[in-house]
Amino acid sequence: MKEKRVYTFGNGKAEGRADMRNLLGGKGANLAEMNLIGVPVPPGFTITTDVCNEFFEKGKEVVIGLLKDEVENSVKHIEELMNSKFGDPDNPLLVSVRSGARASMPGMMDTILNLGLNDTVVVGLARKTGNERFAYDSYRRFVQMYGDVVLGMKPVNKEDIDPFEAIIQDVKKQRGIKLDNEMNVDELKLLVSRFKEAIKKQTGKDFPNNPMEQLWGAVCAVFDSWMNERAILYRKMEGIPQEWGTAVSVMAMVFGNMGNSSATGVCFSRDAATGENRFNGEYLVNAQGEDVVAGIRTPQQITKEGSLNWAKQQSIDEEKRRTKYPSMEETMPEIFAQLTAVKDKLEKHYHDMQDMEFTVQEGKLWFLQTRNGKRTGTAMVKIAMDLMHEGEIDEKTALMRCEPSKLDELLHPVFDKEALAQARVLTRGLPASPGAACGQIVFFADDAAKWKADGKEVIMVRIETSPEDLAGMSAAAGILTARGGMTSHAAVVARGMGKCCVSGAGAIMIDYKSRIVEIDGKVLHEGDYISLNGSTGEVYYGEVKTKPAEVTGDFAELMKLCKKYTKLVVRTNADTPHDAEVARSFGAVGIGLCRTEHMFFENEKIKAMREMILADTPEEREKALEKLLPYQKQDFYGILKCMDGMPVNIRLLDPPLHEFVPHDRKGQETMAQEMGVSVQFIQARVNSLSEHNPMLGLRGCRLGNTFPEITAMQTRAILSAAIQLKKEGFNPMPEIMVPLVGIVNELDEQESIIRKTADKLFKEEGVEVSFKIGTMIEIPRAALTADLIAKKAEYFSFGTNDLTQMTFGYSRDDIASFLPSYLEKKILDVDPFQVLDQHGVGQLISMAVEKGRHTRKNLKCGICGEHGGEPSSVKFCHRVGLNYVSCSPFRVPIARLAAAQAAIE
Ligand code: PEP
Ligand code: MG
Repeated sequence: MKEKRVYTFGNGKAEGRADMRNLLGGKGANLAEMNLIGVPVPPGFTITTDVCNEFFEKGKEVVIGLLKDEVENSVKHIEELMNSKFGDPDNPLLVSVRSGARASMPGMMDTILNLGLNDTVVVGLARKTGNERFAYDSYRRFVQMYGDVVLGMKPVNKEDIDPFEAIIQDVKKQRGIKLDNEMNVDELKLLVSRFKEAIKKQTGKDFPNNPMEQLWGAVCAVFDSWMNERAILYRKMEGIPQEWGTAVSVMAMVFGNMGNSSATGVCFSRDAATGENRFNGEYLVNAQGEDVVAGIRTPQQITKEGSLNWAKQQSIDEEKRRTKYPSMEETMPEIFAQLTAVKDKLEKHYHDMQDMEFTVQEGKLWFLQTRNGKRTGTAMVKIAMDLMHEGEIDEKTALMRCEPSKLDELLHPVFDKEALAQARVLTRGLPASPGAACGQIVFFADDAAKWKADGKEVIMVRIETSPEDLAGMSAAAGILTARGGMTSHAAVVARGMGKCCVSGAGAIMIDYKSRIVEIDGKVLHEGDYISLNGSTGEVYYGEVKTKPAEVTGDFAELMKLCKKYTKLVVRTNADTPHDAEVARSFGAVGIGLCRTEHMFFENEKIKAMREMILADTPEEREKALEKLLPYQKQDFYGILKCMDGMPVNIRLLDPPLHEFVPHDRKGQETMAQEMGVSVQFIQARVNSLSEHNPMLGLRGCRLGNTFPEITAMQTRAILSAAIQLKKEGFNPMPEIMVPLVGIVNELDEQESIIRKTADKLFKEEGVEVSFKIGTMIEIPRAALTADLIAKKAEYFSFGTNDLTQMTFGYSRDDIASFLPSYLEKKILDVDPFQVLDQHGVGQLISMAVEKGRHTRKNLKCGICGEHGGEPSSVKFCHRVGLNYVSCSPFRVPIARLAAAQAAIE
């Protein structure tokens, strides 16, 4: 059978279905599904995502050949249902051409409307509709979009405005006109011819008259847009594979710009920023879809409630709101009722918040798209919990609906209330995407990325954003726009990124050329600080202080659900009582890694540490260690106390000693002075510590085995802190972990020092505390001989940072020199230091768990490398039977959710 590349829909029938999104893209699959459930959708067809891959493999000409018959038949299908003909001046059919990938990528690829118009068809359209102005307005829009998307007519410099917009402004100026919709037929005709001339001049291309030629140009341009820079960047950010490809949907045009009984809009069944169950959206009377999203005209609210709130935020009085910006609920009550009914139907059908596009053509409502709406992390959690309470989805589905990495947004700092009360409000816009952000003003995407790379926090300030700004938006702490509503590009994309955004702040005036923004008479320059409150739409002068977020409300409820379903528990990597406290508040049930080396860097401690390192004899070393002991004891006391009743896994000293001594001349001089020795002596000692491969040198348990006094001192500090706590009535649960073991004898040696020290201490104190001795598995040899190591180790903790380093043979510190090129060439899919390599490193882990438990049946196993907070790696840890993962405090909720999802999966 011949391969099917095109799927039609229309009039309540469809060849596709919602569950065919891999083949038809989200848009194509849902257009089919909407037909099947009786939602009014203009007829059309979808070219599959497989064709997109063919397009890049076989090339444009071959693919057009493969598609020709099916596309021509599908055009006929639309013609029959619409009772009109493509390219027929007497009864013309126009179509739209849209992209649609498997995962939604809002605004990343291209769309073309009004396709099928040319100099003769436009006359027919005017005659057929009895509306010449509409016909020419549609025509100039088509030339504009086609010129941009298919023929590549773009601004030459970043400071330039869109070349078509420049022509429009010129014509308006010549004719003394203020608004676009004041242009008459003559002026619109003039635009068409000037657009075509400009296209020819800049790109050397003629505008195609033949509608079929136009259609092929548009289809290929949409496929091409799969590989445009912003789409590639978006896929990278969202982890969308290139092989998925985009589908292309071609649909009969319906017109929202046929007069005052026509309109177009975008709406959400719930609030995409906060998650509240509040129908909302924006529309424009007598307009086409791109007007709403592009932020060229001020869109009006769909609901009256939304309109009242919007007017308040914009300081617009009721009289002006009612007359100039009324809601659809007020202006088109019947359509509003239909719209509400369909949004309810769609939300019930998909059991999720829907983001819908619609057009009203002369009083008839059409749906052009529905999809599960992009939302902020806060909204994600609230919507999942609400739908669960409403009985729409069960607990497990609610858990699976939440994307672990998106919880990160809920952990971002919020404005400190007191600081906020003192802050000076500069102006207000729309609360497009919640959060608190402060930073320095930049105006261009490339500057935002550059400044961020230099370590600065920036706020990107734009008249409006476009898909070209993606990289800048991603680098910025927040986004502020002068134009555009809650469904503008800036708002939608910022919400998807979980980035703070205030849009449509009408009082700001931006001058890109001089790089200044004027707000209510106050002039701010590039580099000046402002703060944004994405939850209220307020813009503040200067930097407003922030404070950490808390786990409450829906977030807390989600975490409770995680606890119910998870098998794997989550500990934290923490070296201070403060970090431990934060992690506990996020639900960590112990410390999986306490790195003791970080405790040595403060003033007096580093001096004693250096004395220890420079010591020539064991006696001198012991004297220096005596000085360190009380400091260490105090540190461990704090952490064990804060984690009372929970296991605290403390690792013995791990890094090479040269990290503790100064390498610069000045530092060495100061050190010599402090220690009363010559600079030459210090230099000689520092030189003797230097190694060719410090990562493979004197570090980990090799330190404790070379200088047993270090292990003894640390053991004494840990256990005497525990004894003191026990005497005070606490329940300390210390675990002592030996790093970088590769041979069981290394562990054996360390264990005997630890046990001897403990026995002596317990005798001296007359009190015993129970503790465990375990090891890191972070050297491939340790994994390979895990059965032997488990004879000595009471638990394993996989140090996947070192295990990755030594399995790949990639230096942790030097991977940046080749990683970008490896990722680009797809030699590596991801950075293995961030996402666990399940095939290679994972194999070692799973083997070590099995071997270890063969020796010691209930051997507790965990992970404490960076991967312990990365969702896909956490899920792997669940599958290979680890007991816990351990990660930095702010990733604890993410790991908890991933662990619960793994249990459900
Ligand atoms: C590891 O190697 O994974 C680990 C946790 O130890 P560190 O990162 O301190 O070497
Ligand atoms: Mg390590």
